[in-house]
Amino acid sequence: MSLLLALLAMAPTRPRPNPQDSLMAPGVARSLAASRRSRISDLRYDLSLDVTRADTAAGRVTTRFTLTGQGDLIVDFRGLRIRRLRVNGLVLPEPEFNGHHVRVPASAVVVGANRLDIDFDARIAPAGAGIIRVSDPADGATYLYTLLVPSDAQLLFPVFDQPDLKARLTLRLTTPREWTAVANGARVAADTSGRKVTHTFAESSPISTYLMAFAAGPWATRSWGGSSRPITLYVRRSRATEVDADSIIADNDRGLRWLERYFASRYPFGKLDVVLAPAFPFGGMEHPGAIFYSEERFIFREPPTLSQRQGRTATIYHEVAHQWFGDLVTMEWFDDLWLKEGFSTYMAARMQAAMDPGSDAWKTFYLRNKPPAYAVDATEGTTPVWQALDNLDQAKSAYGAIVYNKAPSVLKQLNHLVGDDAFQGGLQRFLRRHAFANATWRDLLASIAEAWGRPLDAWGASYILRPGLPVIEQHVDVREGKIARLALVQRPAGAVSGRGAWPIGTVLSLAFTDGAVTRIPVTLAEDTTIVETAAGRPAPAWVFANAGDQAYGLVLLDSLSVAWLEGGIGSVRPGLDRAMLWGALWDLVRESAFAPDRYVRMVLRELPRERDEQLVPVLLGRLTRALGGYLGDRDRAEWLPKAEQGLYAVAVDSAAPYGVRRAHLDAFIRVAATAAAIDTLEALLDRPALSGLPIG
Ligand SMILES: [Zn+2]
Repeated sequence: MSLLLALLAMAPTRPRPNPQDSLMAPGVARSLAASRRSRISDLRYDLSLDVTRADTAAGRVTTRFTLTGQGDLIVDFRGLRIRRLRVNGLVLPEPEFNGHHVRVPASAVVVGANRLDIDFDARIAPAGAGIIRVSDPADGATYLYTLLVPSDAQLLFPVFDQPDLKARLTLRLTTPREWTAVANGARVAADTSGRKVTHTFAESSPISTYLMAFAAGPWATRSWGGSSRPITLYVRRSRATEVDADSIIADNDRGLRWLERYFASRYPFGKLDVVLAPAFPFGGMEHPGAIFYSEERFIFREPPTLSQRQGRTATIYHEVAHQWFGDLVTMEWFDDLWLKEGFSTYMAARMQAAMDPGSDAWKTFYLRNKPPAYAVDATEGTTPVWQALDNLDQAKSAYGAIVYNKAPSVLKQLNHLVGDDAFQGGLQRFLRRHAFANATWRDLLASIAEAWGRPLDAWGASYILRPGLPVIEQHVDVREGKIARLALVQRPAGAVSGRGAWPIGTVLSLAFTDGAVTRIPVTLAEDTTIVETAAGRPAPAWVFANAGDQAYGLVLLDSLSVAWLEGGIGSVRPGLDRAMLWGALWDLVRESAFAPDRYVRMVLRELPRERDEQLVPVLLGRLTRALGGYLGDRDRAEWLPKAEQGLYAVAVDSAAPYGVRRAHLDAFIRVAATAAAIDTLEALLDRPALSGLPIG
């Protein structure tokens, strides 16, 4: 026995916490959720809320369910107060409520059908409440909406607040008479009484509590005649004339139709409405039947850049994809948050690429996802895609680059590995098998593996359970004008990954000086892979081991490729490969394997002729970072004035595309530091516009 254990053995015994009390602890523990999931079924909420007072909603919920097993029943509630609790028709005097949960004693419930009737009050506030209140500074109007993800349904009403207890919801909402309202189900009645109106919504399909939603207020509504189904858009009255309602509705409609075909599954929730929610903290939220989008990101105050327009469409496709992936089939627990988020982001790019080939959606996907994912995943603090979660009150900590950027990237790799048919077929199986229910990532991989005809266990262990990412080094030996040996060598970027190779499916580009490009599919299963089919070919201008961005990993270029690209990168086509090669060179700068002043020189040389509106802001961002942190004092003194002049020249070039000029002007404002540039800047700020470009 060690000294420590001996000391512990002498310590006085403490009373152990009563397991019944631990159920009442804050949040929703995995154990509480598992116990309820095993006991409760056939769940329905009949929820009435009166939101006519400013700060408090008066509510009543009737909860019906079938119960098995023994023990107290714990209901989650973080609202203001419980006014009355009846269990199976009998009032429970002084129910135990601790600000987190309400206890229903085992003696009050029965095995079989039960009914709880709870009268309660919930908070209405600008933030941190079950109902968010926004006052419109333009006209003083008040708007209300809910945002209950990941576990805030319990702020709104007493509820079993966990994703795997799906329930049918019937909502009745009493509002001021002149208001309208929208919720998951269609509005089927509006009964006016005095100065109030009660909106009744049709019973929803079985949905998870974090997906329940409503919005209420004096909204303006818009529709679009070209839509294949009725979709109503709700927007604040004061911004109704600014909103580009037709294209927002059209993108939602187009996304639904495309996915109905791809999934071979009709849109599962009947009607769809969209709400442009003011002061919304996310780009969108996928409530079934009532998607909420960020008003701020969806109404452009200035002419939108290409990136902004494509970003809005990508957000719409993301939320529409969630209607199946997340809403129809839902994760059991928030440890699988990545599944719905990764899938929806990946699917949004697929949809954009299929419906609008000119959008270059895979380049956008690369630029938005890979650099942020690699940046986090190369650190020792990274986590696996699947993250254990003991309590739902910790679920918000999972929202980050691993879930939002790495997860879609590994799904792209999975699709590449199994091929389009097995991927699509597997998804269709998955959705059929788990419709209106819950599933885990292992269920998804099982469905895809069945469609593929091969197991995916090793793939799951490498990409879902293992943290970190591979670095893939290119080794190219050229002798007498021909490739003698081409090897791809992978290693973990950090110690956090442990040892061993990732199974990687990728495509190798061999580009030649005459502009021809040969693409060779390669599977990397070991630390070192010799690409036999490359040997004997003419010496390439450059080589790239992740053409088309199928693989998830950092590619380190060989010295021959670097030497050629330093002068010729501007001629690389398509834009996706050019963007990736710029990224690979920047990775070398960050690895101290390529001098930052050489990167700055390349950027300043190429920017005046680079017309790619998505790539330009990325290059400008790296230029700013190189000037700010990577260059030594002497190099900075040399390059800063050149950068200022170069940026300003493109900003005032009226022949350049709007988004390109806008990005250059913003970068000029960021870096201007010499006396001459500051004079130019001050003169600029006195003018309302710069050759047609708004300033400020
Ligand atoms: Zn999402």
